[in-house]
Amino acid sequence: MTDRPHSTRFINGRIYRDAGGRILADTLVTQGDAIHFVGSRNEAPAAETTVDLRGAVVMPGLTDAHIHLFGLATERLQVALDPASVKSVAALLDCVSSTAQRSPQGRWIRGVGFDENGLPEHRYPTREELDATAPDQPLVIRRFCGHTAIVNSAALRVLGIDEEVSDPVGGSFGRDPAGRLNGIVKESAADAVFRKMPQVDRALVANSLRSTIADAMRLGLTAAVEAAVGFTSGFDEEHATWELLRSDRSRLRLGFMYRLDPREALARKLAPHRSPDWQTNSLKFFADGIVGARTAAVTTAFHDVGGNGFFMRDEEELEHAIVEAHLGGWQVAVHAVGDRAISRVIGAFERAQKVKPWSDARHRIEHYTCPPMGGLPRMKQVGAIVVSQPSFLSVMHRTTVEAFGPEAESKYPARSVLDARVPYVSSSDAPTGEFSPWVGMANALDRGADKGKPLGSSEALSRRQAVRSYMHGGAYAMRQETWRGVLEPGMAADLIAVDRDAFDASVDLKSVMVLMTMVRGAIEHDVIGSQASAAAGSMH
Ligand SMILES: [Zn+2]
Repeated sequence: MTDRPHSTRFINGRIYRDAGGRILADTLVTQGDAIHFVGSRNEAPAAETTVDLRGAVVMPGLTDAHIHLFGLATERLQVALDPASVKSVAALLDCVSSTAQRSPQGRWIRGVGFDENGLPEHRYPTREELDATAPDQPLVIRRFCGHTAIVNSAALRVLGIDEEVSDPVGGSFGRDPAGRLNGIVKESAADAVFRKMPQVDRALVANSLRSTIADAMRLGLTAAVEAAVGFTSGFDEEHATWELLRSDRSRLRLGFMYRLDPREALARKLAPHRSPDWQTNSLKFFADGIVGARTAAVTTAFHDVGGNGFFMRDEEELEHAIVEAHLGGWQVAVHAVGDRAISRVIGAFERAQKVKPWSDARHRIEHYTCPPMGGLPRMKQVGAIVVSQPSFLSVMHRTTVEAFGPEAESKYPARSVLDARVPYVSSSDAPTGEFSPWVGMANALDRGADKGKPLGSSEALSRRQAVRSYMHGGAYAMRQETWRGVLEPGMAADLIAVDRDAFDASVDLKSVMVLMTMVRGAIEHDVIGSQASAAAGSMH
């Protein structure tokens, strides 16, 4: 029981201590789950195992501060209808049709990843087209954003939705020009559909989650925040599935945001809990919709289709929930995309801080896409942070330009956030954004230039700022920056080795390959492992 913890010595590395951008050491020694030594090889203490890094670059592990691991895991169990998998509406229908032919009558077909922006036709399949390809099986196609879905007639039948249905608060059932349901369901109407559908087998999802987490570590993540437990399959189902993983001692450090009102959390006997492994101290709320569906609550009408979007719930009630969560000691995370929604949420943070000051609350606004006038100084004042998704600049380039016209340049602020001294934290929001943090970093620099004109070049981050937003940003959002995210003695042994220097201005960040990932002192991903030698006693 009193065994000394296992120690590993990494030699011949190019070691960055943090995102400061200077190589300071060639050797690093870990002991147990902590870093023991960083410096030069001739001063390094002995260790049980030695790994020759052969010049690989070492840096602190990355954090994805807003990801939907559960969503990624369930997508892997479904029919991929993203533009990379099906390249046209016709190909999509073919894919659905062949799935339908292989599936028993009555079994649900679940398609995911649909994005009309990536298809040459730029349109949704019609209800009639879907009925022709899957006449006997209920079919639901989830748009990649998760806020919109398309269903066929069999699904409407099974769900008990008929032509008489009226729109719920905060959502809509689409209709064709003749007034007949067209199968498109948005926001709370889509939510109701997802909730009423039968669940995918829990053990199957848990297994898929395990492999999704392994992939996250392969990409260089050592921590991640599940951005809304309850967003994909409902809170209780998702919570129960995560509980199956808890005993795995999954190495990835996890944080969870519960998509619950404080009262619902209380009813489930859930209280904010901070932990280095399995942290559950945040509640997630949705203030408004998204740009893609033009449901974000904006002041200026959308450039292409008009309209000002809407709030997902009553504004007063939202504010009440935020204040109540704050008083309960929860970190509050609010999805807010449109400037109207963002301003309203900041107002709720201000009210909460007035009722009970909490200088280090670190409440979060997720997305912060359309910055309201004067919003950042108010964010600074209440100690709130911006959690952004730089890969949206590429993934949603087209949508952003169409929705905002010339004003698109001012969306997805980044540099101005840092200039206002508001913490700027990067994340993927996968599967909506790109899973890889390296793609996110690249887009933080190029502002989506791979899809056309860069969106707001003046908002581009420097390379160091971009790396730091994944290296330090997420740790800060999780309140873990005092013990991880920097490679120095006593800090957590959460680190990665990569094949090229991310701080070198000539390196394309998208091409960075992660060779090794260590979390809590254990190597979880390793393509240089063949060089590791269990060389106890032979240190030189
Ligand atoms: Zn999200």
